[in-house]
Amino acid sequence: MGTRTIMHVDMDAFFVACEVRRDPSLVGKAVIVGGSPDGRGVVCSASYEARRFGVRSAMPSSQAKRLCPEAIFLCGHMEDYVETSRRLRALFEEATPVVEMASLDEAYLDLTGTERLWGSPRAVAERLRDRIRETEGLPASFGVGTTKTIAKIASDWKKPQGLVIVEPGREAEFLAPMPLRRLPGIGPKTHERLAGWGLKVIGDLAALGPERLAQVFGEGGRDLWARAVGQDTGRVTPSRERKSIGREMTFDTDVDDMETALAELSRLAEDVASRLRAKGFSAQHLTLKLRHSDFKTLTRASTFPTPTNLETDLFSTARELLGRHWTRRVRLRLLGLSCSGLVEDVPQLDLLEGPHRERQAHLASAIDAIRKRHGAEAIRRGSSAPPKTSTALPPWETGGQEPDPH
Ligand SMILES: [Mg+2]
Repeated sequence: MGTRTIMHVDMDAFFVACEVRRDPSLVGKAVIVGGSPDGRGVVCSASYEARRFGVRSAMPSSQAKRLCPEAIFLCGHMEDYVETSRRLRALFEEATPVVEMASLDEAYLDLTGTERLWGSPRAVAERLRDRIRETEGLPASFGVGTTKTIAKIASDWKKPQGLVIVEPGREAEFLAPMPLRRLPGIGPKTHERLAGWGLKVIGDLAALGPERLAQVFGEGGRDLWARAVGQDTGRVTPSRERKSIGREMTFDTDVDDMETALAELSRLAEDVASRLRAKGFSAQHLTLKLRHSDFKTLTRASTFPTPTNLETDLFSTARELLGRHWTRRVRLRLLGLSCSGLVEDVPQLDLLEGPHRERQAHLASAIDAIRKRHGAEAIRRGSSAPPKTSTALPPWETGGQEPDPH
């Protein structure tokens, strides 16, 4: 395989930048898009002004508020982000058909072989940067290298509005002085363990060699080493355009108690999560739809801290939205749940991360396997046992008896 030229484009503080574009009075202010600081929401995106106070994505909004009391909290406009992302993708596709959207605001472009047509990677990056600025009014950072890992680390290196090119053959040299954290797949737990061995930078990890890492981490250790020296082989796989996966249901009789609504919500979460997994996707956003008995309809969306296809994540987010937005004293006629911002499921690289999360994933795939054999009704978590008013349980119903996964 010849040398590849891969570009990673990452929009700078994307959600916030979209909000500033809507309301220019926000320019230069500490702006946070995410959950309310009074609730249990998290930060989805923070302006660089807010980051200066230590605010980070996925941090509880309440903590962000303590760090940066003057921050302006916005719940955001998901429709705008999704539409903008679609237009960005079209811009990227002007440079190459091989575009993989890694999330709404991030893409890998395989530029291999386009040089004669479009000029050097630097020229392509500068042109794209100008196009995005002119047509969308948004800032972006660019990284170019021979692998996806290199390109991603490079785009992050000089953020915001960075442009970093790592020449072929200089990968290991570029990576060596970087803090370990910058290597994708090293989360807090793995980092803690590696730091415990006295490793600080990516070069320390590279120096251990593939065999040693394989002894400690299994086969994943070899991949880790390959990434640490810039020799990983991940391909840019063009993601097909997908909108969402969802389901809704109308109650036989309109519902006025939370318990019944939650039981149904739990079924919807299971169904949608299982379809996400079957198709190999994780979702970034969840939308809950409520229709009242007077046909007034409400949709409310939320963003996950990290993409997920676990029903526990879907359910807890949906439950929070339901609790917050089913405030009218009117019965519910319909509930719907859909997931959007679908990204290809990447195997969890962080080998030591979250045994709890891993158990959830195991449990989820075990349930998928059983469902496949016996049909979707075959197994239900305790929390989604059908409400008492519904028809008799099938003989293999396990609702209520399944061991608590927590
Ligand atoms: Mg970004």
